[in-house]
Amino acid sequence: MSKKTLHFETLMVHAGYQPDQNNSRSIPIYPTTAYTFNNAEHGADLFNLDFKEGVSPYIYTRLNNPTNAVFEQRMAALEGGVAAVAVASGQSAQMTTIMNIMKCGDNFVTSPYLYGGTYNQFFVSFKDLGIEARKAASDSAEDMEKLIDKNTKALYTENIGNPFFNVPDFEKLAALAQKYEIPLIVDNTFGCGGYLCQPIKFGANIVVESATKWIGGHGNSMGGVIVDGGNFNWGNGKFPKYTEPSEGYHGLVFWEKFGAAAFAMRCVAENLRDMGAAISPFNSWLLCQGLETLSVRVDKMCQNTLEIAEWLQTLPEIEGVSYLGLPNNKYHALAKKYLRNGFGCVLTFRVKGGVKQTVLFIEHLELISHLTNIGDVRTLITHPASTTHRQMSEEAQIAAGVYPNLCRLSLGLEHLDDVKEDILQALKAIK
Ligand SMILES: *Cc1c(COP(=O)(O)O)cnc(C)c1O
Repeated sequence: MSKKTLHFETLMVHAGYQPDQNNSRSIPIYPTTAYTFNNAEHGADLFNLDFKEGVSPYIYTRLNNPTNAVFEQRMAALEGGVAAVAVASGQSAQMTTIMNIMKCGDNFVTSPYLYGGTYNQFFVSFKDLGIEARKAASDSAEDMEKLIDKNTKALYTENIGNPFFNVPDFEKLAALAQKYEIPLIVDNTFGCGGYLCQPIKFGANIVVESATKWIGGHGNSMGGVIVDGGNFNWGNGKFPKYTEPSEGYHGLVFWEKFGAAAFAMRCVAENLRDMGAAISPFNSWLLCQGLETLSVRVDKMCQNTLEIAEWLQTLPEIEGVSYLGLPNNKYHALAKKYLRNGFGCVLTFRVKGGVKQTVLFIEHLELISHLTNIGDVRTLITHPASTTHRQMSEEAQIAAGVYPNLCRLSLGLEHLDDVKEDILQALKAIK
């Protein structure tokens, strides 16, 4: 069967794996750090990155591993890329991606609507490395273009920003990136592993995402993914890491040797080798287990989120319900254009009366878990202003849509009557 004919749901349970030499139907876990070489030449070939058909490509699990490879191939298929690299977390997916493109003195232009952890990574940690993240006034191509200069090496945006829920206008951003011959990087964590949106189809060049969320889906394992769209010309003269002989790889030129998959290959060969953000094979295995039910979970969670969003709007104690699936949402039209299968599994709302009432409300919830995570089978609530977005100034918080009385709700798979009941009893308790 040709891969091209397979649908997302089929790829979710089959891509990247066929029963192995032991006929194991389920994906085996390879908890090994190293792999024996057939002979000295085999070892030397692998260290030259000369992979041969039918010969084991595995070297050392910081670089590659058979269980990780299944997860990577599956993710590449689900996001529509040519290759994927699995890493230890969503944060390391971003870190590895930026390090794989830029050096001290370079900059990139980013949408301002970012996950709190990303915000700190970009504006605090990267600054120490001499890589400047330039925050645009919005996620529009016009605002982003204003900050581009000759040292700009990428555009960056989240898809369904956390927790602003913006859907970027991909076609415009892709055109802007093309105009300046720089890659468009999209954090597609909220796009649920490609099920709700495949940014590469709309012109993104690299997708990064936290597998910790809906991909794994059970709140039990950290992981991150980098998907290489294979659609960017790294040989255009702006990216010496691809066109000049690599000091760390005895003169290898990545663009010449690997062409379309140069980005993914360099992530592994230089970044995982030197920075070491490898994922555990056990986590890859858990994340693959999650993937096998991804569409079923996300379908149900999107339905649940829409129903709760509509219901919350009817409660007098609640204001400002924000969900992409509501027609009053600022990004509803873009969501309809770029998303499929639903509008996401997270909503936000505000508790009338301010921050004190909000915190009390959250503390009184019994079924809904108070923590900082999303994409679990259990319903989760976060108070972004005091947790995930705490490091931002109040001004930056408001600009990112993080009001002091904002609650972020990630819907799980519980019966909705029980979820509603929990919310009602907590609202009653704070009256
Ligand atoms: C959680 C999250 C991350 C970070 O992922 P980790 O796996 O927690 O490191 C990055 N981006 C977004 C949008 C997220 O929600």
